[in-house]
Amino acid sequence: MTKGSGMGVEVRFRGVRGSTPCCSADYNVYGGNTACVELNFDGQTVILDAGTGIRALGNELVRKKIAHVDLLISHAHWDHISGFPFFRPLYRTDCKLDVYACPLSDGRSIENALETQMSSPFFPLPMSKIPSSLRFHDIESGDSFKLCGGAVLVKTLPLNHPNGAAGFRLEYGETVIAYISDTEHFADRIDDNVLSLAHGADLMIYDAMFTQSEYPTFAGWGHSTVEEALAVSSAASVKRTALFHHSPEHTDADMMKIDRAVQSEYPNAFCAKEGMRLTL
Ligand SMILES: [Zn+2]
Ligand SMILES: [Zn+2]
Repeated sequence: MTKGSGMGVEVRFRGVRGSTPCCSADYNVYGGNTACVELNFDGQTVILDAGTGIRALGNELVRKKIAHVDLLISHAHWDHISGFPFFRPLYRTDCKLDVYACPLSDGRSIENALETQMSSPFFPLPMSKIPSSLRFHDIESGDSFKLCGGAVLVKTLPLNHPNGAAGFRLEYGETVIAYISDTEHFADRIDDNVLSLAHGADLMIYDAMFTQSEYPTFAGWGHSTVEEALAVSSAASVKRTALFHHSPEHTDADMMKIDRAVQSEYPNAFCAKEGMRLTL
């Protein structure tokens, strides 16, 4: 199968922020919702992470009467799961949701983490009462598996992040998307796992939470930089690079400055914006 055979992937950024949502007039351009990316493989929906950006996506899926989605969760930090209880398809008896995630570094499953999130006193409705058909698939980091009737091959590798996180590489025909959030780079080399996830990708979505000048204050927090994203992009021959998981401390003015500087040197790299759509 090739791109010439008419296969298409649409990408829509639903939440691009890391750590915590931020809402004020200073965040209108790049958006304040946390990590969530919608992928559409010729009509089949795959969602990456369930940050607060998943809420509006869920409303749209219900409106469009989409009955089945696959959700891949990189890890259980708040900014990647806190939209989950507000994902409207969960409350529809006619919706089926398959959730794929690696066990957490302490061995607990993502199902257990989401159950805790929806338990008293944090949330009024326990996950056991959800009316939709919800299935969990535990995957080991390093596993590969298929989605969308076998059309999409997903490869996973562990990232360098406190409590663990998985990176995903999705291959659909010849189109490759790498989702690498959250991860901290190494000082002396590019992470082999990151390189192999990103290799030759049409689109790499990468944790560029900090700039290099900010990074020393946050070393050890589990996040990477704009500069490292560009280094990975070159080393792995990535075609387009979306800087992602923006710091909530970066206002639109800060983001525009970063975006302009990046695009002037690397025309195929850009800061992801909430609502942005790409066709691969
Ligand atoms: Zn995060
Ligand atoms: Zn994290």
